[in-house]
Amino acid sequence: MSKPTIRIAAIPGDGIGTEVIEAGMEVLHAVSERDGNFDIDAETFDWSTQRYLDHGDFMPEDGLDTLRTFDAIFFGSAGDPRVPDHITLWGLRLKICQTLDQYANVRPTKLLPGINGPLAGVGPKELDWVIVRENSEGEYAGAGGRVHQGLPEEVGFDVSVFTRVGVERIQRFAFELARKRPRKLLTLVTKSNAQRHGMVFWDAVFDEIKGDYPDVTTDKMLVDAMTQRMVLKPESIDTVVATNLHADVLSDLAAALSGSLGIAPTGNLRPEKNVPSMFEPIHGSAFDIMGQGIANPLGSFWSGVMLLEYNDQPKAAARLMQAIERVTAEGTHLTQDLGGTATTREITDAVLEAIRQSNA
Ligand code: ATP
Repeated sequence: MSKPTIRIAAIPGDGIGTEVIEAGMEVLHAVSERDGNFDIDAETFDWSTQRYLDHGDFMPEDGLDTLRTFDAIFFGSAGDPRVPDHITLWGLRLKICQTLDQYANVRPTKLLPGINGPLAGVGPKELDWVIVRENSEGEYAGAGGRVHQGLPEEVGFDVSVFTRVGVERIQRFAFELARKRPRKLLTLVTKSNAQRHGMVFWDAVFDEIKGDYPDVTTDKMLVDAMTQRMVLKPESIDTVVATNLHADVLSDLAAALSGSLGIAPTGNLRPEKNVPSMFEPIHGSAFDIMGQGIANPLGSFWSGVMLLEYNDQPKAAARLMQAIERVTAEGTHLTQDLGGTATTREITDAVLEAIRQSNA
């Protein structure tokens, strides 16, 4: 029988995205070679702000149709000081997520061995969460407008859109994920005391469906209180589900608590698997360190772990995660965001070596 092939569309994008995706592809190829049970067939696309400045678009007109032919998308970052962020975001990253309806954004956070986060006395046992972010509507639905522009009575408004389909499918996804985790605890985060329509709706849907998951323990938090719980009682959290905006903010806090924005991965998933899902480090373009060869590629590598898991290669995914953890545990190859002096090349080489030395 021929080996399965994972077809990957690599979109490095802007800033350090180009550096960490190049390193990430090297590592993915090495895992596939070491594993021997599947191949990787990757194509790299130059869709970026530079392309927008040169040609007037971030991707070709048929770009999304091209992406549909792949199994997975490996994305770097979108953002460049020469173009306003909302143009870049909607022109590239959100265009992909929204058109392909990758509605479940999954963000694991774990303190890796050897890495000291900012919370004293908190280690890998206390900080091991998955945040599930609604990724298709809510506060980032793009509904709103600007009226009377330039006049004294000018207004700007964004309308949050919460549909029953959208709310129920993300909450059910989070319940399913929570039941596969050792602690089987799901926390619903909203702001239903102040926002009395959409947020109360989120609470109501949660109460309606939770009976279908009797093995999952649940609780509810207001988003402001959740920030305190993350810092003061991290061990009390397991799986979290929240709206697009709330989970966006909470997952940046989570990334900082796990040591650095440079480590955290994410998957923009289409659970039906009828279109490719997209995997990316959660950090942005980081123009301040671009081109210096010092970007931390671990967020990209960990996103590669998620890509492999999602494309039915759990053994290879575990091998890559172990290689990452082995390198962080040794502590000799950490980039400057983690207090070290290693370059992107050095840490990539260390992970490549750990993959080669990994058990069959
Ligand atoms: P964007 O506007 O595209 O979201 P940004 O530059 O405003 O990006 P981030 O890239 O999210 O913000 O990161 C903020 C800072 O954290 C960066 O300026 C950089 O100093 C640091 N940082 C982020 N990612 C990494 C990384 N992978 N390696 C090292 N430092 C990083």
